[in-house]
Amino acid sequence: MATSLTQDLTTPNGARYTQPLGLFINNEWRAAKSGSTIQVISPSTEEEIACVQAAGVEDIDDAVKAARQALRGPWSELSGTERGALMWKLADIAEKHMEAMAVIDTWNNGKRLSSARGDVEELAGVLKYYAGFADKIHGKVINPSAQKLAYTLKEPIGVCGQIIPWNYPLGMAAWKLGPALAAGCTVVLKPSENTPLSILYFANLIKEAGFPPGVINITNGLGSVAGAALASHTDVNKVAFTGSTATGREIMKLAAINLKSVTLETGGKSPLVVFEDADFEQAVNWSHYGIMANQGQICTATSRILVQQSIYDKFVTAFVERVKSVSKVGDPFADDTFQGPQVSKSQYERVLSYIEKGKQEGATVSLGGKPYRSPQGKGFFIEPTVFTNVTDEMTIYREEIFGPCVVISPFEDEVIHRVNNTTYGLGAAIFTQDITRAHAVAKKIEAGMVWINSSNDSDYRIPFGGYKESGIGSELGEEGLAAYTTNKAIHVNMGSRL
Ligand code: NAD
Repeated sequence: MATSLTQDLTTPNGARYTQPLGLFINNEWRAAKSGSTIQVISPSTEEEIACVQAAGVEDIDDAVKAARQALRGPWSELSGTERGALMWKLADIAEKHMEAMAVIDTWNNGKRLSSARGDVEELAGVLKYYAGFADKIHGKVINPSAQKLAYTLKEPIGVCGQIIPWNYPLGMAAWKLGPALAAGCTVVLKPSENTPLSILYFANLIKEAGFPPGVINITNGLGSVAGAALASHTDVNKVAFTGSTATGREIMKLAAINLKSVTLETGGKSPLVVFEDADFEQAVNWSHYGIMANQGQICTATSRILVQQSIYDKFVTAFVERVKSVSKVGDPFADDTFQGPQVSKSQYERVLSYIEKGKQEGATVSLGGKPYRSPQGKGFFIEPTVFTNVTDEMTIYREEIFGPCVVISPFEDEVIHRVNNTTYGLGAAIFTQDITRAHAVAKKIEAGMVWINSSNDSDYRIPFGGYKESGIGSELGEEGLAAYTTNKAIHVNMGSRL
C-alpha cells in the first residue's frame, strides 16, 4: 500500500486544511526510506493529530545531496538581489497563510493563538530583514604594498544542517533560514519531532515562492537518528543548533568529524534583578512576562528573580497577584487563555519533577506547585508556580526547568556574584531607575543579552547568543550573517618578480 503523504485535517477551531506528512527534499514530498514514522500529539488533548514520516540516515544523505547539488547549481547563479527577492516573496506568502500556520502551532505546540500569530509575524519579519542583506554581502580590497593588491570574497559557507527545537517551531526556523539563504547557502533543516506540522505546511510555500529544488530541505525525524546523521554528515559544512546544552555538547562532538563550523544556542537560567529604586509595577509586570510567557518554554526565560531585600516581601505579594490575575491556564484557542499546556508529556513530567524536587529540598511553594486539571481531565497543563525561601544550592535555583516555574530570592547589597554564579550565560534583566547603575551592572553581567527595565523583548535586528554553556556564536542581527559566510582572500601580484 502506498504511503499517504498528506492528510485532510479539521483543527480544534473548525478549520479544514491538508497537512503534508512527508520529507521535503528537492522540492518534492517523499516517504522516508527508513520506513519510520512519528506520532504527533496535541498537548491539550493528548490525542494524535497526525503521523509524519521520520528521516533515517539514508534520507538525510539524500537531503544533503540535494542541498549540495543546489549549491553548485541554479542557486549559485542567482544574484544576491534575486535571492533577496525570493526570500521577500516567501515572507509575503507566509503572511497570507498566517492564520493556518498559527492554528497548526497552537494545536501542535499548545501555545496560545495570539502568540502563534506573533511567531508567523516573526518568521516573515526575519525573512524580510535578511532579504535586505542578500545583496549587501561583500568583501574588502586590501592593498598592502605597491606590488600587491588583494581582495576578499565573502562566500556562502556551504551546505548547512539546521536543528531546531519545539518552543518556537516557525520562529526558530526563520532565525536559521534567514541568514543562511541571504548568504547563498543551502539548507537541510530538521524540526523537532514534537512540532513538525507547521514547518511541513511552510515547505509548500517554499515551492510556491519559486526557490530552486534542493535549496531548502525539511527532514523531520528523531534527534538521535536524523539529527545525529545531519550533525555528523561529512558533506555538511556547518551545523546550527538550538536546544538543550546536553544535546549541543553532543552535536559539537558529532560535528568534529569534518571540522564543521558550529553555532549553538542552548539553555539558560537567566537572572532578573530588581533594585529598590525600580519602577515597581513595571518590574512586576515584566518579570511575570519574562518567565510565564510561552508556558515558560523560552531559553532566555528570566527564571531566577533576585529582589533587593527592602522591597522583597512587597514584590513577592505583587508578583503572585500578577500571576493569579494574568496567567489564566487553559485551552490555547480560547481568547482569555495566557498559558496553554507544556509541549509534551516528557516536558510536563520533567517540569513536575523539578517542582517536586523544589519541595523536597525545602523551598516554599508560594503559588501553584501541581498539575492543572483541565475540564476534560486531559492535557499537559501545569499551574504557574512560584517558589520562595530558595537557597542558591537548590536544584530549582541552579537548573533550567523550562516551564512556568520561577524562584524569587532576596539580596542585600552584592548581587553581581550571585547573578554570574552559574554555568549559563544567556539572558539577564535589571530593573532600576538609576541610569549609572543600570549600565554598570549590565557591563558586569556574564550573559549574551541584558535587558534594562524589560525582559525577553528580543528583536531580530539585534544579535542573540550565549556566554559560557549557553552557546557559541550569535544569531540574528548583522552578526547572525557572519556565521553563514566564509572569507576567500585573492592575492594579485602587481609586479613582484622572482
Ligand atoms: P533537545 O536539545 O533534545 O532537542 C532540540 C533539537 O535537537 C530537536 O530537533 C532534537 O530532535 C535534536 N536532537 C536531540 N538529540 C540530538 C542528537 N543526539 N543529535 C542531533 N540532534 C539531536 O531538546 P528537547 O528534548 O526538545 O528539550 C529538552 C530541553 O532542552 C528543554 O527542557 C530545555 O531545557 C532545552 N531547550 C532549550 C531550548 C532553547 O531555545 N535554548 C529550546 C528547546 C529546549
